[in-house]
Amino acid sequence: METIGVRYTAWAALDRDPQDDRVEFHCPHCGAAGWKPARRPRSEYRFTDGFLQDEQGEMAVCRSCRQRLRVAPVVLVHDADEKRRFEAFFTLEPELVLSR
Ligand SMILES: [Zn+2]
Repeated sequence: METIGVRYTAWAALDRDPQDDRVEFHCPHCGAAGWKPARRPRSEYRFTDGFLQDEQGEMAVCRSCRQRLRVAPVVLVHDADEKRRFEAFFTLEPELVLSR
């Protein structure tokens, strides 16, 4: 099972500790919001569809239902404009992620 991840950085992560570099996602099994520490270097991210994305993604385990899932792609979001575009381009609704 795969789900889209988002990694906020720069402006988009201003309200957060800079050490707290995380990938956020919604579990495709149970729909719970989750996150994991980001592991992949930013050099692995490539521009696709106007966003810096890591197509390989990362493996994660849902803290709610304990199922393993693949978070891919992981999209790097830098600022408010990108955040708006991201939310318009990718839906974060769990039931719609399921149908991808
Ligand atoms: Zn889950």
